[in-house]
Amino acid sequence: MADKIGRRSFIKKMAAAGATVVGAGVLAGCGKGSSSDSKIPANWDKEADVVVVGGGGTGIVAALTAREMGSSVVVLEKAAVVGGSTALSGGVIQAAGTKFQKELTEYKDDTPEKHYQYWLQAAEGLADPELVKGMADNAPANIDWLVKQGLTYVSVYGVDPIPYVDPELMTDRIHVPGGAGKAAKAGTGKIHVDILYKQAKNKGAEFMLETEVGELIYDPKKGVVGVRAQKGGKEIAVKAKKGVILATSGFDRNKDMAKALSPQQYWALETGQVFTAPTNTGDGIRMAMALGADLAGVGGTIGVPFYNVAIAPLSTNLPEVPGIYVNKYGLRFVNEATHYAYCMRAVFNQEGHEAWAIFDEETKNMGGEVIGGIFKPWSHDLSKEVADGTIVRAGTIRELAEKIGVNADNLEYTVNRWNSDTAKGRDTLFNKQVGLKPLARAPFYAAKVKEGNLGTCGGLKINTKGQVVNVDGQVIPRLYAGGMCAGGFIGPYYPGSGTAIAATVYFGRLCAQNACGEKPWE
Ligand SMILES: Cc1cc2nc3c(=O)[nH]c(=O)nc-3n(C[C@H](O)[C@H](O)[C@H](O)COP(=O)(O)OP(=O)(O)OC[C@H]3O[C@@H](n4cnc5c(N)ncnc54)[C@H](O)[C@@H]3O)c2cc1C
Repeated sequence: MADKIGRRSFIKKMAAAGATVVGAGVLAGCGKGSSSDSKIPANWDKEADVVVVGGGGTGIVAALTAREMGSSVVVLEKAAVVGGSTALSGGVIQAAGTKFQKELTEYKDDTPEKHYQYWLQAAEGLADPELVKGMADNAPANIDWLVKQGLTYVSVYGVDPIPYVDPELMTDRIHVPGGAGKAAKAGTGKIHVDILYKQAKNKGAEFMLETEVGELIYDPKKGVVGVRAQKGGKEIAVKAKKGVILATSGFDRNKDMAKALSPQQYWALETGQVFTAPTNTGDGIRMAMALGADLAGVGGTIGVPFYNVAIAPLSTNLPEVPGIYVNKYGLRFVNEATHYAYCMRAVFNQEGHEAWAIFDEETKNMGGEVIGGIFKPWSHDLSKEVADGTIVRAGTIRELAEKIGVNADNLEYTVNRWNSDTAKGRDTLFNKQVGLKPLARAPFYAAKVKEGNLGTCGGLKINTKGQVVNVDGQVIPRLYAGGMCAGGFIGPYYPGSGTAIAATVYFGRLCAQNACGEKPWE
């Protein structure tokens, strides 16, 4: 009981933190999360069976599904365009046992059960197995549904190793949408969004852009009956006869929420770079928290190493770039070629979150545009980065260690061990299989590892119907949440490309199907 009270007061404080953000930034005037017993307005400006908050990946899927179910639907989107982070993404999506996987990979007998087990093992015991199972079991049918809407997939690849996940479970499941080549790349998600958005509009879904929802309207007897939003400087009230679906994604850009809920996200905001939709500031999460909603799975991030040095190639068209990571003690701490978000979590866990990518002249000669990374290529000869301090250069390993402030004896030991290991073709520390080349040719280089961040993991606690659950374990009637606005299906780090888009489709459809099944409240 004491625990519940503590949690409730924490939740209220977080909602209040949201109000501070509202006052301080782009959300000024919305009063997000300000009230838990809003009066039902005498007049509504608009109404629909289902109101979707957020017109990104999840919101568009939910709207299209609502129309398929014969319900009227209006989507309220804060930005001037639809798509959110989904449109900026690579659009890749995970599924097991699809016709694409069978045709395009060696994995002819993969199953949703194996897919489920991999997601569950990667979650380190922190995910809700029922939510994960729903995602895995429905993933192939969701691919069929996407194909029915007009999407196709041109290649299928796999997640890089995660040390404690059974390798038998790590098959090729990441489906790359057609229309922009066979390799995954940022921006292909717009193809996914454009096709689904067009379908939703053709089927009669209404989209209101530049409409920022600030509050859920709650009636103690009926549940959530609508929302208040800002549109063109005016407040409007939108009635939801059946239910409201929150599809506002995570708190990617909200420093206050990140500080409280996700230290790695906060670190990425402070020292790395966040690439999500700028409008993803945790609004839906805060609005539901103001009604007592519980949270699940918060703390993880979609963290990606900023540079290509030492890691597994992030795309099939990139080469292996030899190098190693060391911490401030000059020691390696991870197989750098493991799955990117696992590797990035290991970096974050080092003392002072400090890690350096170390490489030599041989690697440098591959060219800065190749080794610099997918987010921001370096200049070809690295002269710009050496001049501005992004890269430190030195004639010897000892001198490099002194320049970057790591233990010089240890760094010499680490590089010597790496060099003798690579000469024998085996990484005796972490069994890394990628870029096994010695770091032997001077000068030597170091770049501080920072996070390219693709958003938060974790959000509103939901049940297997997508209904939002409060801190006492009760459903908040007529309130649903999906995609990265919801939590509980991912563990302490993102388990692999294609998981988030799979979640937008699964939970978007699930929430809409269940919201459409509600009896109108009047
Ligand atoms: C560069 C990049 C590449 C990525 N690549 C992949 C990939 O290939 N595969 C994959 O699975 N994942 C990928 N991810 C992650 C994935 O794209 C996102 O996690 C996922 O698309 C989020 O979907 P969503 O529906 O939850 O939110 P979004 O698609 O971000 O939609 C949320 C929407 O809510 C709106 N909104 C927010 N607040 C309000 C409010 N108060 N009122 C009204 N509207 C509001 C926002 O403007 C936004 O349009 C990538 C992410 C990035 C940034």
